[in-house]
Amino acid sequence: MLRFSFVIAAGGSGSRMGSRRKQFMTLGNKPVWRWSADIAAKTPGIDEVVLIIPAEYDGIIEAPYPVKTVHGGSERALSVLNGLRAASCDYVMVHDAARPFATQELFSALMAETDSDSGVVPVLPVSDALKRIDGEVISCVERDGLYITQTPQSFQRDKLIEAVKQYPHAKDEAEAWQASGHALRYVAGEKMNYKITQKEDMMTARALAEGTTRTGLGYDVHRLVPERRLVLGGVEIPDSPLGLLGHSDADLLTHAVMDAILGASGLPDIGSIFPADDEKFRDADSLGLLREVMRLAEAEGWRVEFVDAVVQAQVPRLNKYRDAVLESLGKFFAVNVKFKSAETLDDAGAGLSMTCWACATLRRVN
Ligand code: MG
Repeated sequence: MLRFSFVIAAGGSGSRMGSRRKQFMTLGNKPVWRWSADIAAKTPGIDEVVLIIPAEYDGIIEAPYPVKTVHGGSERALSVLNGLRAASCDYVMVHDAARPFATQELFSALMAETDSDSGVVPVLPVSDALKRIDGEVISCVERDGLYITQTPQSFQRDKLIEAVKQYPHAKDEAEAWQASGHALRYVAGEKMNYKITQKEDMMTARALAEGTTRTGLGYDVHRLVPERRLVLGGVEIPDSPLGLLGHSDADLLTHAVMDAILGASGLPDIGSIFPADDEKFRDADSLGLLREVMRLAEAEGWRVEFVDAVVQAQVPRLNKYRDAVLESLGKFFAVNVKFKSAETLDDAGAGLSMTCWACATLRRVN
């Protein structure tokens, strides 16, 4: 069986997406380049991943398997040559980092067709009607026999190095390969293996990669009593004559938020996870508990995207502490909090209790 290095070109300028390089943008829970690298790393026949990066990305490349990084050059061909020289296998697949959705089936099909004489490319027939526009003149182009070419493209490494050196201005490795007199084969490409070029491509990729969201609801109520601290969202409200009664710090806002997160994660409520009769949680800092709840949600595959909450309190008036509360909880996730009076109705209106409702939106990340 032939052994392949998977060489990912991520050293381009990315100018069409503005100043940020699309291949390093986050897609789902990881950078764009990692999507194809992760598949390659577990594909039988692929022995290593080589990533061609701009020099400024040195030291920030992370993956749960070894990745050999090399710097790109001033032009695409020079970048690819650096990657090919760093590759240690006799065969290479050269892939564009901006194609995150290539599959293992495609990699395997390419490897099966490759030999020392023949390079292989994935192609897709053109399915739209084509037009050529030359100034004001629009003409039709016959699409029969026309294909678009994708990556990865698969070759014998030493021969490809010579070809790219000889034809540095070729549009892709396959063109340089053929110009050098080598044979080229093709396999069926994949529609999903499209290249992220424009902003809209990234939006499509996000829709495909980021998957489902869930919403959870949380609720809490505590008695208001004298001589207790009043803590909301981790912020101690100064000089409050009344505070919330409870086993922990009685931070009912953080408690409702935790229950919303647990709810969306499919987990039981905070009372089951941090029992009120457990001495360990006496006067506990609820932000510490929130950290634990987020860890539990993450272990279930969920990331908190946004939290909204309503705190109902007749006394004290809390609106002037809103910025401090948003800053405190904003360290964990995007958040909004509103404070409402109870219109002097019921226990909350009589200043006997405080109530909170929270909604958390979670996104599946793995
Ligand atoms: Mg509570």
